[in-house]
Amino acid sequence: MATTIRMTDVKARLERIRSLPLQGKIRIMNVCGGHERSVTLSGMRSALPDSIEIIPGPGCPVCVCPEEDIYQAIQLALQDEVILVAFGDMLRVPVNVPKGEIRSLAEARAAGADVRPIASPAEARQIAAANPQRPVVFFAAGFETTTAPVAAMLVEGVPENLSVLLSGRLTWPAVAMLLDGEDAGFDCLIAPGHVATVMGPEEWAFVPDRHGIPSAIAGFNTESLLTATYSVLRQHLEGKAFLDNCYPSVVRDGGNPDARSQLTTAMRVDAANWRGIGEIPASGFMIHPDYAKHDARLRFPDYAADQRRRAGQMPPGCDCARVVLGKIYPNQCKLYGSACTPRTPIGPCMVSDEGACRIWLSSGVEYAA
Ligand code: SF4
Repeated sequence: MATTIRMTDVKARLERIRSLPLQGKIRIMNVCGGHERSVTLSGMRSALPDSIEIIPGPGCPVCVCPEEDIYQAIQLALQDEVILVAFGDMLRVPVNVPKGEIRSLAEARAAGADVRPIASPAEARQIAAANPQRPVVFFAAGFETTTAPVAAMLVEGVPENLSVLLSGRLTWPAVAMLLDGEDAGFDCLIAPGHVATVMGPEEWAFVPDRHGIPSAIAGFNTESLLTATYSVLRQHLEGKAFLDNCYPSVVRDGGNPDARSQLTTAMRVDAANWRGIGEIPASGFMIHPDYAKHDARLRFPDYAADQRRRAGQMPPGCDCARVVLGKIYPNQCKLYGSACTPRTPIGPCMVSDEGACRIWLSSGVEYAA
């Protein structure tokens, strides 16, 4: 019965969108890997009128994690013999190294390093508590929703031997960078509901207020995404631009006060490098000086030389940088589905469950010559 209701809801929402008097192309960007997965797996793109383009934008934290951070994590595991724990999809992300050298955490593990996949910060704490004689480094890469639990873990207290190699990013500055550029590449925005749950919807108000871009916050399910799509299309047709919260059951003004307070206590925000994109102002979470004794960047040698920081951020031939910025679709990369597949990933967008290339190829989307 519940499924029938949901299908009816979806159909009704699609009909409302199809009834709009749309003219010309309208490009709607999402900035959430979960949104992109729902859009692609549900077949929403093909169900919408041809004039609507849904563009995957910077919504995959693993894809934008800078190469030097992954390299640093690999070297800590190999050279400092730490127990290196990281979320599972980070283990297979490759870095650019000469042939024969270890190019991922998974390869480091195969070579004998103690690299362990984890699913939550609580697991990192447990591993550290169970191995008090060994240093444990938690390589924590992610957006706000992933970084907030890391902050909570630090605030609540962690074993002395646990430190964090933090590669946390804020999503809105990447969208601000696109909008401040010459061609943002989209006409409307669907903002990430789960980020807004933590940080508050207010963070996204600059998109309509400063840039006149119709915007709506959506959850992961198809109904919510269609509601947000309808909202931004209506705004576009009526020449309006405001931020519509289409996920009100979860997203509240001000976000989650506890999570925000923990983020402010344990982290500070500064400019940060995004793989393939470069430095974006005020886009990175760093460990707050009060927690310096748990900052792996301060406790261990820095193996990522400047040369690596400037090195080609993506592997040769990989178009992840343009995919992440919504400049091309995943299946327009020449390596898509041939040299680069989920089993043989060349770029990070083919590794993570939130990577657009992996989502598209796993869903059967073919290479577009
Ligand atoms: S298909 Fe592979 S090589 Fe091409 S952009 Fe995607 S991840 Fe990079």
